[in-house]
Parts: sequence; structure tokens; C-alpha cells
Amino acid sequence: MSWHRIPDHENSEEDETIMMTSVGEDDTTAHLLREDASVVHRRELITNINNMSLRRRLREGMRSRPSLSTLSKRAKEERKYKYSLVSVLVIGICLIMMVNIGLGYRKCESTNEEMYHPPEIHKLKQCIDSATGLPFPWQNYRLPTNLLPEDYHIFLHPNLTLQKYTAQVAINFSADKTTDYVILHSRGHTFKRVQLGFQNSKEKHLVKQTLHCSNNEMVAFKFGQVLNQGQNYQIVLDFYGNLTFSLGGFYLSKYKRNNGKEVVIGTTQFESLDARAAFPCFDEPAFKANFSLSMVREPSFKTLFNMPIESTNDYEGGLKIDNFGSTVKMSTYLVAFIVSDFQNVSNVTAGGVEVSIYSSPDKISETEFALKMACDVLDAYENLFNIPFPLPKMDLVAVPDFAAGAMENWGLVTYRETALLYNPATSSIKDQEWVATVIAHELSHQWFGNLVTMEWWNDLWLNEGFASYMEYYGVDMIHPKWKFFADFSATTVTAAMTQDSSQFTHALSFPVTDSRKVDEMFDSISYNKGASIIMMLKDFIGDEFFDGVRDYLMKHAYGNAENQDLVAAVAARDTDNNGDIQVIKAMINAWTTLAGVPIVKVTLKDNKVSVEQSRFMYPDGSQNLPETGLWHIPLTYVTNISPQKATRKLLTQKSSSFDVPKVEWIKFNHNRVGYYRVAYDKGMWNMLINQLSQDHEVFSASDRVSLISDAFVAARVGNLNYQDAFRFASYLQSEKDYAPLILATTHLGYIDEMLKVGLKEEQRRMYEKYVTYIFTPLYYELAWKNKTSLSRMQLKLQSTIVSLMCSYKYEPCLTTAYAKFRNWKENNVLIEAEYMTTVFQSAIHHNLVEDWDFMWNAFVNTTDALLSNKLLSSIGMTTNLQKIIFLQEEMLKGENIRSQSASSLIVSLTSNMVGGSLTWRFVKQHWDEIVKLHPVASFAMRSIVLHCLTTILDEGEIVGAEAFFKSKGIDDMQYVKRTLEKVRINIQWFKQHASVIGKWLKQNENSWHSDRP
Ligand SMILES: [Zn+2]
Repeated sequence: MSWHRIPDHENSEEDETIMMTSVGEDDTTAHLLREDASVVHRRELITNINNMSLRRRLREGMRSRPSLSTLSKRAKEERKYKYSLVSVLVIGICLIMMVNIGLGYRKCESTNEEMYHPPEIHKLKQCIDSATGLPFPWQNYRLPTNLLPEDYHIFLHPNLTLQKYTAQVAINFSADKTTDYVILHSRGHTFKRVQLGFQNSKEKHLVKQTLHCSNNEMVAFKFGQVLNQGQNYQIVLDFYGNLTFSLGGFYLSKYKRNNGKEVVIGTTQFESLDARAAFPCFDEPAFKANFSLSMVREPSFKTLFNMPIESTNDYEGGLKIDNFGSTVKMSTYLVAFIVSDFQNVSNVTAGGVEVSIYSSPDKISETEFALKMACDVLDAYENLFNIPFPLPKMDLVAVPDFAAGAMENWGLVTYRETALLYNPATSSIKDQEWVATVIAHELSHQWFGNLVTMEWWNDLWLNEGFASYMEYYGVDMIHPKWKFFADFSATTVTAAMTQDSSQFTHALSFPVTDSRKVDEMFDSISYNKGASIIMMLKDFIGDEFFDGVRDYLMKHAYGNAENQDLVAAVAARDTDNNGDIQVIKAMINAWTTLAGVPIVKVTLKDNKVSVEQSRFMYPDGSQNLPETGLWHIPLTYVTNISPQKATRKLLTQKSSSFDVPKVEWIKFNHNRVGYYRVAYDKGMWNMLINQLSQDHEVFSASDRVSLISDAFVAARVGNLNYQDAFRFASYLQSEKDYAPLILATTHLGYIDEMLKVGLKEEQRRMYEKYVTYIFTPLYYELAWKNKTSLSRMQLKLQSTIVSLMCSYKYEPCLTTAYAKFRNWKENNVLIEAEYMTTVFQSAIHHNLVEDWDFMWNAFVNTTDALLSNKLLSSIGMTTNLQKIIFLQEEMLKGENIRSQSASSLIVSLTSNMVGGSLTWRFVKQHWDEIVKLHPVASFAMRSIVLHCLTTILDEGEIVGAEAFFKSKGIDDMQYVKRTLEKVRINIQWFKQHASVIGKWLKQNENSWHSDRP
């Protein structure tokens, strides 16, 4: 699966929630959230994160079609809401006043910390069947292994109008041990008839007893017949299920045609635990089986499945039934089916696979880029892995409502529209990169994940780490001129290190014992750290790395694997680096089983370098430093004598030392390929800063990325004073490379964010002056220039620099952007894709209600998913109280704002202090409704909590937040702990650095000018 993001945004935030291709250091989270919502900004690659693993999702429908009872409940809610609205208005006004007069806002807020919802504890209880009071015959979270499924035949008759389906599933299985019960996963099904038969025999037994365990989503059937070891059986289940707009299981999605007609389609999303919501099954990745399907449809619709249609017949009532061939052996979470009126374009790869892109009929013209990319990358992967794609066809489908970015169902990959459709007229270069990236990611899963699947979710990184690496590798193979790998260290490595700098992170391979933990595994560690470790291993081992990976894929094809299987396969191929399998095994083991990111402290005295490794964490005021082990760190360094050719050393001990010749500077972690931070001593920093100020291009762009990260992180933790960090940053006036710049703006943004949250308005104004001063030369070199005169990287930089300067309220930037807005609004002149978000946000900055209303109407009426995203993420940045409350209400209604966009709306609402405070309050008040849409451990919920809490900088409020999480029974969750820790880290930073920076700003303010050169 891949995450969702808003590709057009500048800078990233890379809280842990970051997904693929994001930028930014931990710092960034905050950075996004500029107070003046109005301000345009740089919320780069991400965030809008959405939920991914949709487990336990809504068991009833969402709000698109409310029932009578929901309506009456909602009326009650609305009354309650209006009541709270009054208090909310009071706080809002209070806040604004306090911002203006420079007071803290806490007092105002604290008077309104009223009622939390009643406690709701989610601890696993003993499984009892609620209807009979009988204990459930199996008390484990994971299924018993006494029955092994072989194949499923699924029959589905969906009724999209009545929002339900009739179904039958027949499962052939064998008994590995004698047992009384057949135990399956199932959620939300009503069973009409269940019978057990013998394979190859007509004998049948109807079910005698049915017991449910709702905690573990299991059902147990007992027949008048013991199931004997070694026998083969068939269970046939006739049942009903409901179709909802829940984004999980078998669910509904709707869209508007250009002629205004609304169309509803049926589609699926099963990873991680939602196949059980569509049909009863052995819903664990290791229970692989073959699946076939028969599906009833209206004659005007078509159906899709993992395999092609074998036959179509007439069905009762003038309907049709499509029968599909059987899949290869695979896990339940990879099954998918769709019933829709979509159209397709197709082509055949060199390897003979028929590739089709499906979309709603009005968007079929935007599928061309995806079709070419998919064909090319599928061929390239077949060659690289030397294993043919085993299915006859590969469909890629753009689904209007989709929680994640995309999902790798075998042969039927589903995408958000923004991750698959590309229109050269309205998509930016970053939008295009995003489409290519997601296709490369999902198609690599056809091998990593689909062909060889992790045994259990604790090794999810085997799927997602590889796919997150392959998304770069794949794009680079097809579009080498894009130089896509250049962004890897600024985006993926940075995002990984952010989460890994917390004491509440986890190792790549990590025990998973309940469904919430499964959801939490879909995080920056499994994705970004997984990819970063693969990058480092490949660099260390060389080409043999892929030989080992090929062996791993071959050996475990159509089966499951664990972390150790990969370690063994890769280690066996590493012949030249060390010659000793144990060395490489120990190295990979350390990186996959130790939590955290190491920092290597380097000191240079005379000609002797001393290095010492330890675990890096940001100080949060506590003394809780978890125990750690020793990493096997592939150290590399370059010097002025050999600036591009690295010297290598393997650090397996806590500390070590070695001699170097006399050098003018020495830079560690060449190209930031190693997964570690570097802490230089003061003298070494001085040497590096001098070189940067004289000629920064002596260092590669990736080395500059690495220096930027290490310098700003050193400043944050007090190892480099901020005066020196700003001296370092002055080189940025000459920086013209994309990756170093986006990372630098992210780090600079952290300071801005802290000044904002700490209500240091005067310092913030000076800081804006400082940052715009640094970037003025680049702004005038690139901003608003004609596309055709710029290279691809310059184009990426162009939108980045424009967005940045507008976000720091650089007047010439805001004026030009707003003129473009007026031209769009008044004369219907198209806004260039590269600037669209900046232009919308400049209008928010301008703060006219009529502009806001115009954008809202455009949002409601557009059928273009990209435009819709860009509008929503801008209008949410308003500081207008009525509009903030209106958007919150709209989010709950779910009619104009799709539930897939809820978390991105909340992210933009928290971009300023007015919206931030109101939104955290709103989230607490409507917690139960929001977690129905986005399960508590989902990506969306993690993002919502993080962004709400990042507007806090007060110990008292953390205590309040902790009490709230406790009342919801989620105070033990890792992401909750990480978020609270992050707030404490911010508080520490503010205490230690805010006034020092304030003084520095005041001393230097008069030397900064941002005039046109
Ligand atoms: Zn994935």
C-alpha cells in the first residue's frame, strides 16, 4: 500500500506519518503550520495523509446517506454543537486578542476544558459469544492452524442501490489436526445457511452451533461431525453483507459525471484486516489459497477481479453474471473486486501481460501517462528480478473514494485518482512524479508482498520497505533524466530518522499482537526506514545484494517469509565485502532488530579521528533513555583531498579511532547513504562551514543534504550554537539544488513554527525577514519564469521557492500570486499547475470572505481530484471563525468533503493558532464519530492527533491531552506516546533556544534586505 499525500505542496512535514516521498526533518511537522493560515505555504509532499489500514471500519454506513435514526441523532448533536459553538467563538476571539496583545492563550483555553467522553477501554477481554453467553472455543488473537485453506469460490450479488449484497463462499480446506470447530474471521455478516461437506463426496452436515467472538472478529461453526486430521473438507456459507461508504472491505464510492449525474460503484480495500468484512475467510497473510469469483451485475456495468473474466452468462431479472478464473496462491488481503461503469485503455507489455488503466468515463483521457509507465516498469521489474509476472493481466484502477494512496491487489491495483491520473495541462511536475512513484511502488509489490509475503505483520517492512525503495529504483529505471534518486536522502531517510529519534519508535521487525498494533505498523519505520536500510545494505554489499534478493524471491515464491529469510539469502550472496557470512548476518540483524537511529560522534585531534556511536534522541526533559545495542555502522568519509571518493570503515564497536592525513575538512556519511547521524566537534564544523561559504559545490548535493540535517539537528539539541547554525545557513544564498533546499527550508521552518506556537510575533516578523533575505536571489532567478526556459529540477525549485516566499509573506510574491487568483476568479484564466496551491493560499492570506466563498464553490463543483485537493488544503487555512466551524461541520456531514479528505482538512485547519486550538477541541468533542471513519491507529488518526497537538506548547495542556487519551483507552499506544513526547521536546527547545534566537534576530535585522537584485 502507499500513503496519500498532497503532491503539490512545498516542504514537507515529515512527522512519522510521512509516507513515501516526503521531505523534511522531524522539525517539519511544525514548520507547515504557519500561523496566518492565510499564508501560502509549503506543506510539501505530504500530509494529507490518509488512513490506510482500515480495519474495523465503520460497521454502519457513513454519512452520505443518513438513516432516520442517524438524522435524529445528528439533530441532537447539532444542538450540542451549537452550544459548544458559543464557547468556541469565545475562545477564538480570546485567542485572537491574546495573539494581538502578546499574551499566552492558555488561560482562556483552560476555562473550557470541560467534559470528556466517558471512558472507553479497548483492552482485549475474554471472548464470550454475546448471544449465548458461552465461551468462544478459541481465545487467541491469531487463528488456530489446525485447518489449512486451499481454495475459495466466492459468489457475490451486490445491490448498489439498496447498499447490500447476497453472497456465498465455498472454501476447500484440509484438517492438519482433528478438531470440532471451523473457525474463521468474519465481520458484519448475517449467515443464512452454513454447511460442511467432504471434498469429492455428497455427504453434507448443516451447522449445529455458531459462536462469535467480536473482539477478535472470529466466528466458530460446529457441525454434527468431528473434522479428522488428514481429511479434506468444504464449508459453504450463504450470507448477507452491507455496503457502506466506509473505505474498507467491500464498499461504495460515488462520483459525479460531467453532466451532473451521480454514479455509485462498488470496490474493495482489504489490507490489512478487512477481507473478513467482505467474506468469511482465514484472514491472515500466511493462509494463502487460490480464489475464484462469480459476480452479478447490471448489464451497463462491468466487473473486475484479480484474474480475467472466463465467461459471462445471463442472470435472473435481466442481469448478467461474470465468472472469473482462479488466482495463483495468495493472501486474503490481496483479493480485490470492483463493479463499476469505468472505461479503460490497454496495451500489452513486451512480456505479454495485458495492462489496462481504468477510470470513470470522463477521465479516461488522463490515463495515458499511467499506461506507459505501468507497461515500462512491469517489463523492467521482470528483467530485474528475473521472475515473470505470473498473471495474464494487470489492471490499474482510479477509485474516487480511497483511503490510502494505492493498494497492490494482485493484478488489480487500486489508486486514488490523484495517484494515477495525469493531465499535462493541470498536473504539476510533482503531481506527475507522484503518479510515477506510486505506480513503481505498487507494481514492485507484485513481487515483494504478493509473490513472497511476510509471514505475519511484524515483518511488514519486508513488503513496504522494499516497495518504498523500489519506487525510486523503478522511476529511475524508466525516467533516468528525472534524477529521482537525488531526493531520496532529503525525503525518505529524513522521514525515517524523524520517527526513529523518538524513544517510542520500534525496530523494523517488531512483535504485533493485536489489530491496533497491525495498524500502527503502517508507519514511517516500515516504509521509510525499511527503504533507507535497503539503500545502505545495497551500497555496502554491492550488486550481490540484488542477487540475494532474487534468491529470496525464488525460494519463497507463493509462500511466506520472515526477516531471517531475507537476512540469510542476502548474507549468502555477499562474497566479496567480508567473505564471512556471519559478519553480514550480524550487520543486517542489528539494523532490523534494534530500534532507533544511531549518531556517530566524531572528533579530530591532530591527525587522529575518534568515533563513538550511541542512540540519538531529542531531549524531552525526561531521563528515560532506553537501553540500546551496537549497530554495525558502515562509516564513510570524504576530505578535501578526495571530495568525491569515500574511504570506508565498518564500526562494530562502541568507539574506535584511526589516523587521517592533514586535511582542511572531513565529511562523514558520504552522500548520506548510511542510516546514521553525525555529530562533529566544533573545530570540524568550522572547517566545513568555511568550505561551504567558499565553494559549496565541492560537496555533492546529497552531502549538502547530510550537512544541513546534521547542522540543524546539532543546533536543536545544543551541540552547535544557533549563531553557528545561521552562519552555516548563509551558504544557502548560493544553493540551487532541489534536495538540499527543501530540507533546509524544512529545518528553517521548525524555528518559525516554534515562534508561532510560542506567540513570539515580533521575533517571527524578524525571522520572516531573515528567511526571505536568504532566498531572494533564487526567487528572482526562477519565480514566475516561463516553463520552457527551465530544466526539470529548476521547475521543481521554481514552485518550491514561490511557495516558500509567499509563505513567509514576501510582498512581491503575494501580490503576483493574488493577481493570478483574481484572473482565475474574474476571467476564468487557468492557474499554472505549479503555482496552484500557492495562488489559492495567497487568496486566503488576502482574507476576503467572497474569495473564500468562491473557492468553496469551486471545490464543491469540481470533478477534478487534484484541483479539489488543492482547494481544500487552502480553504482550511482560513482564520475566519465562522468558516472554520463551517468546515468542521461539513467534515462531519461527509457530503461535500469526502471522508478520504478528512485528515487533510484537519491538517490545514491546524495551520494557524486560531484554527489549531478550535480544531483540537473539535476533535475531542467528536472523537467517537471521527474514529468510526478512521480507526484509532490508522494513518489518518495519527496525523490528526499529531497536527492538533503540535499547536500546544504548554505543560498543563499536555496533562489535559494525556487525560483525554486515557479516557479513550489509547494512552498506551506508541503514536500517542510519541506525539506527547514531541510536544515535550518542543517545550524544551523553546525554553532553551527561543530567546537566544530572538536576540540574534534583533542584532542582525538591519543587515537583511530582500530587494530585487
Ligand atoms: Zn506499499
